Amino acid sequence: KIRLDNVVKTFDTFRAVHGVSLDIESGELLALLGPSGSGKTTILRMVAGLEYADGGHIYFGDEDATDIPVRDRGVGFVFQHYALFPHMTVAENIAFGMKVSKVKREKAEISTRVGELLRLVRLEGLGERFPSQISGGQRQRVALARALAVDPKVLLLDEPFGALDASVRRDLRRWLREIHDELGITTLFVTHDQEEALDLADRVVILNEGRIVQQGTPQEVCRAPNSAFVVSFLGDAN
Ligand code: ATP
Repeated sequence: KIRLDNVVKTFDTFRAVHGVSLDIESGELLALLGPSGSGKTTILRMVAGLEYADGGHIYFGDEDATDIPVRDRGVGFVFQHYALFPHMTVAENIAFGMKVSKVKREKAEISTRVGELLRLVRLEGLGERFPSQISGGQRQRVALARALAVDPKVLLLDEPFGALDASVRRDLRRWLREIHDELGITTLFVTHDQEEALDLADRVVILNEGRIVQQGTPQEVCRAPNSAFVVSFLGDAN
């Protein structure tokens, strides 16, 4: 379980995150949903350890995250423009994280693991292609396989399907849900797309201007939006 306790982040004089408190339960798929500039990415980056909170605390289990170096947090990331290495094949891209990881693996073990990951993300047979030879949706699946290669405890996804067209996004959503259910991995998913968050997540946290305005299951927030902001923001999906 990950817990944010009154987390604050200020850039120079601009406060991007105003005292956010949030529990992320083990195994859940949680969406951080909000308009552009609401602080979603900043929160994700603080959980990852790529950015430090200047107020409050983040806990991984019972441990204060500031005491845990980034590479020991057990997080895997996928970003919207998560460039794969263009000169490496799909299989080499997936293997990359394992090779630089401090857990040393034998060559044969890496190749077996790459095979398993290719099956998991339904890209069997494409391991020898280069990123330029597969579609955008397939590239994001490779990025997810690469993130999963080091067995993270937590997956952080920042608009992973943002650059793709609507029908591909829908397919990837269904697919991500299946993978999540198969692995049961704690997942924090950032999106500004209401439909995506409501369709995909176990629980949705709605942010505006660096504050949580509402959280609950998709049904709860749709049935009982608690403010004019939530009504109009969710309404934009239709
Ligand atoms: P988007 O969907 O557009 O990515 P977001 O909800 O993820 O938006 P953040 O990227 O977290 O929002 O940004 C929140 C606010 O903090 C924005 O107003 C942004 O301009 C500001 N901000 C983010 N990073 C920095 C930085 N490194 N320096 C200064 N301001 C920043």
